Amino acid sequence: MKIAICPGSFDPVTLGHLDIIERASGLFDKVIVAVLCNMDKNPNFTVEERMELLRETTAHLSNVEIDSFGGLLVDYAKSKGAVAVVKGLRAVSDFEYEFQMSMINKKLYGELETVYLNTSQDYMYLSSSVVKQIASLGGDISNFVPEAIHAKIVDRLTNM
Ligand code: ADP
Repeated sequence: MKIAICPGSFDPVTLGHLDIIERASGLFDKVIVAVLCNMDKNPNFTVEERMELLRETTAHLSNVEIDSFGGLLVDYAKSKGAVAVVKGLRAVSDFEYEFQMSMINKKLYGELETVYLNTSQDYMYLSSSVVKQIASLGGDISNFVPEAIHAKIVDRLTNM
């Protein structure tokens, strides 16, 4: 079975993330969406909340599993028997960092491949921080986040 990991902060999950997860789920037997427990990033949603939002968002994808991890991505990937890490690329600015990370991961664990999926045109401007900024200023984020979790996200981001 070919397992892929989609790692990220997902603070919160956006339609851009969902697009990458759906496309990865069509390419691999199983996709594990793994929320990174990274204390320095000062997240708005707890890891549990982010996982719950991801579960609701991906309920229609039977080969997608939600998990969280800390420490090195390569160690996590090894423990899950994953063959690949799937990352979305929005712009050249994403590429430089992702390229460096994939080189390092390859050195640490040569059997793990990094697969990049280009963003869909509709989502190339979209990031979790854009969603948080717009919502906290009272803007409409319905074109940016999955419909099933829209109300929860708005509620949380406007009551901080
Ligand atoms: P961000 O906080 O920048 O939204 P995350 O760390 O949560 O990003 O991202 C997880 C993964 O999803 C990364 O591989 C990132 O490149 C990808 N991603 C995020 N937003 C988009 C988008 N709009 N289009 C394509 N890929 C995306």
